[in-house]
Amino acid sequence: MKAVNQDRVNNLLMGLAEFGKTEQGITRLAYSDEDRAAQNWLLAQVADLNLQVREDAVGNVFLRRVGEDDSLPAVATGSHLDTVIHGGMYDGMCGVVGALEALYMLKDVKLKRSVEVIIFRAEESSRFGFATIGSKLMTGNGSPESFSKAAKKGELSYIEALANWGCNPANYKEAIVKPNTYKSFSEIHIEQGKVLEETGKQVGIVHNIAAPTRFKIHIKGMADHSGATPMGFRKDALVSGAKLILAVEAAATAEKDNGTVGTVGVVDVEPSSINVVPGGVTLWVDVRGVNNESIGRTLEAIKAEAKAVAQSDGVVIMFEMLTADKPVALSEELAKKAEAICEAEGIDYLHMNSGAGHDAMHMAKLAPTTMIFIPCKEGISHNPAEFAKLEDVCRAIGVLAKLLEVEANE
Ligand SMILES: [Zn+2]
Repeated sequence: MKAVNQDRVNNLLMGLAEFGKTEQGITRLAYSDEDRAAQNWLLAQVADLNLQVREDAVGNVFLRRVGEDDSLPAVATGSHLDTVIHGGMYDGMCGVVGALEALYMLKDVKLKRSVEVIIFRAEESSRFGFATIGSKLMTGNGSPESFSKAAKKGELSYIEALANWGCNPANYKEAIVKPNTYKSFSEIHIEQGKVLEETGKQVGIVHNIAAPTRFKIHIKGMADHSGATPMGFRKDALVSGAKLILAVEAAATAEKDNGTVGTVGVVDVEPSSINVVPGGVTLWVDVRGVNNESIGRTLEAIKAEAKAVAQSDGVVIMFEMLTADKPVALSEELAKKAEAICEAEGIDYLHMNSGAGHDAMHMAKLAPTTMIFIPCKEGISHNPAEFAKLEDVCRAIGVLAKLLEVEANE
């Protein structure tokens, strides 16, 4: 196997970072022109790998190196190219660039099975309010219609964006992957947390992925004149909302030993005017963890507090569920293989969980799945300051290439 080519990895990461570049980091939303341009550029850079290129019915792209027996289930790897608003240049890109570099390393190595690099569409929830849409649709989880219900005012819905991309939304079921298509799936990704950096480890081997439960809390009070409505005569939806923001924090804090976290990331206020008592508020809530019972208790505690607030404040509170993904256990067998590779290479590794969601959690339904984490500076991610050292990225690529070789010859 050839050694990892640091320059090529660096050039590909730097080159991708030009697409959607703004004064505050990279904004390359899913299914946007920038997303398309970045992908086209990348495919042109790696044309000498002579991969078979295929796009499915919802825009996921598959780059296949044909093995000696193409009829066997293929070994899959990959990640995403879309970013959040004002994001960085490593989240997702390391997994795509890393997978392609691994194929360069394996170029002259005989492989029994085919290896497929997957570029998943719409991993980030920034554009449509739903994460990992491409991999969800590949695993028959949801429909273009279901991913359109969180569309922001004045922006394209998922169905519209999918049609703009050149896909027929009615054909989305054609993207569902048939059983036994893949032998395994491996994804390298920056950690997006500080655990590796703080423990001084070089690589993380992931065992569980925390899953997000996302919902909106709609609070309906009464919009009144802010001067003419005395205190005590109001139904201020924002005041009730503030109590519920604290309730989300308290409920998740009570479960912190189980690794559960809760966040209100968006607050919509109606009519949002300085001289009107807020009549309507919507809170966008994200609760996640690796322990399903703990997540359940957190949700129950938030609901109980909502009931109490509705009663005490005389407002109407309604919950609208967006997603309720279950935490996902990854393959212990693949983790052992990754561990053996690290041992053999003298790489200092750590067994860990992922707090962030990834396409790998859906791929785990199709085939044994693993993730290899790269340390990232101060755990900063979804931010222009996101940074991973080139040598750390390349070390993880080395582990991936070895793992793909083992898998493809099994
Ligand atoms: Zn990512």
